[in-house]
Amino acid sequence: MVSRRLLLGVLAASLAAPVMALAEGDEPTLFTKKGRRTRRALKTQSTDKAALHNALAEVKPLEADPDDAPHDAPPQLVSPDEALGRLKQGNTIFSRGGASIALPGVARLTELAGGQHPFAVIVGCSDSRVSPELVFDCNLGELFVVRVAGSTVSQEGLGSIVYAVEHLGSPLVVVLGHTKCGAVGAAVDVATKHADLRGALFDMVLPILPAVLEAQERHPADLQDAAIRQNVRAVAARLRVADGTLAERLDEGRLKIVSACYDLASGQVAFDA
Ligand SMILES: [Zn+2]
Repeated sequence: MVSRRLLLGVLAASLAAPVMALAEGDEPTLFTKKGRRTRRALKTQSTDKAALHNALAEVKPLEADPDDAPHDAPPQLVSPDEALGRLKQGNTIFSRGGASIALPGVARLTELAGGQHPFAVIVGCSDSRVSPELVFDCNLGELFVVRVAGSTVSQEGLGSIVYAVEHLGSPLVVVLGHTKCGAVGAAVDVATKHADLRGALFDMVLPILPAVLEAQERHPADLQDAAIRQNVRAVAARLRVADGTLAERLDEGRLKIVSACYDLASGQVAFDA
């Protein structure tokens, strides 16, 4: 685990940089006539950052972080196949219109506050119609969820997955796409109609484009649907080689990484495994 001392150092360094940049320059050249309001906002922001920086500097690091100890050797309570079976069973219940879970009571919340051992990591799309806990009939503490539109994985997302596997003992990672995914649809439009997406929206679509191009080579009747399925398979394939810890656990049979697609209309998840 990252120590509290190191974390505070990184935080302080990242906050110090913009404060210094503003303090060293004369008049920020970025802002012209209409920049007065922005300048004021930035000064407020930099003052806030300076205050936070000072506050962080005064935090006394703990000698030993008690959270570190249990995370070093998390129990793996279920096997990868058992975890997959639970997801499949949960989805069967959900797609039939049922739900077996009850909201956790105070005792369970207290228990969860002491630690978590999610039995699966779900890499999903942000789409409001594909909430993993509902789709898999799961409760708090059971799923570790990483969600970005298009079910892609950034470096930060990869770190989240590795954290869940290495420190929380999750034996299964499911990359979950869904029918009619708008993010993949946007990537299809960029590839086939040269749709003009800019800034952060283009950044969101960019990692999906290789899957669209690969699906396109097979000339499918429904390119968006083919790209959705290709995208989750490609993300799962990349995850299998993206990190040493994940690769080692895959080799040892302690981890499975599978792709899957959720059907918006039926509520059913089709797993590629
Ligand atoms: Zn989507």
